[in-house]
Amino acid sequence: FLSGKRALVTGSTSGIGLAIARSLAAEGAEVILNGFGDKDEIAGLCKALDATHVGADLTSAKGVEELMEGAGDCDIIVNNAGMQHVAPVEEFPVDMWDKIIALNLSSAFHTARLGVPYMKKQGWGRIISTASAHSLRASPFKSAYVSAKHGLAGLTKTIALEVAQSGVTVNCISPGYVWTPLVENQIPDTMKSRKMSREEVMNDILLAKQPTKRFVQPEEIGALAVFLCRDEAANITGSNYSIDGGWTAE
Ligand code: NAD
Repeated sequence: FLSGKRALVTGSTSGIGLAIARSLAAEGAEVILNGFGDKDEIAGLCKALDATHVGADLTSAKGVEELMEGAGDCDIIVNNAGMQHVAPVEEFPVDMWDKIIALNLSSAFHTARLGVPYMKKQGWGRIISTASAHSLRASPFKSAYVSAKHGLAGLTKTIALEVAQSGVTVNCISPGYVWTPLVENQIPDTMKSRKMSREEVMNDILLAKQPTKRFVQPEEIGALAVFLCRDEAANITGSNYSIDGGWTAE
């Protein structure tokens, strides 16, 4: 149902962004990939998804401008690129704070600022951002990430109100812990350092906050993004969709 629609997904060379890109492509959207990675691997993804790749670094306004210029007019924009750094506030590296706010929050402002005019003119558009359970809850030592994700939820609501009558919806998706290579690769080291079994690391450490004791699967996020693009979702705007195994219900 998305054929004829062009979808830009930031940070889509791996993990959640790639799953969202795959889900949108499976519905017929022409996908623009963005993100870093091995040249040949990215070429392989482009071939498999019949997609193009614009490799801009989104930690600056200029980088997002390059991306938007390279991507052309987009009907769907998914703000997904993000990064994390964990440190107490008094030791938090200033350049890391700036980078996380730039990538996890400001890049979504820039894609919206540049992308909304076309969507309004068309009378149809979808802006979807990957926020986090940390857009609703805090954890210690994640000051930049939590601030950026709370900000992203606020930005989502604000833009949703501004474009409410133009056929454009603006929402975010807030995952809990998602099963990505990043998470999987932490398990062996944590098993060693804490002298725990794989099972214990998964349930008591990684999934401590997730009542279902199941990781969110990237494909589940892709499916929700696809739903938000449907015409049946035209009245869903300014929403923040938790997909966190019950984490924020507590
Ligand atoms: P990931 O590290 O697998 O993917 C991040 C993507 O962003 C990659 O494609 C990477 O190349 C790209 N990227 C990184 N820096 C960039 C930059 N400066 N400019 C452009 N692209 C850049 O991460 P993921 O786990 O798939 O996370 C994707 C999003 O989901 C992030 O916003 C993250 O905060 C959010 N999230 C993840 C989880 C989780 O458990 N993995 C939970 C909640 C929210």
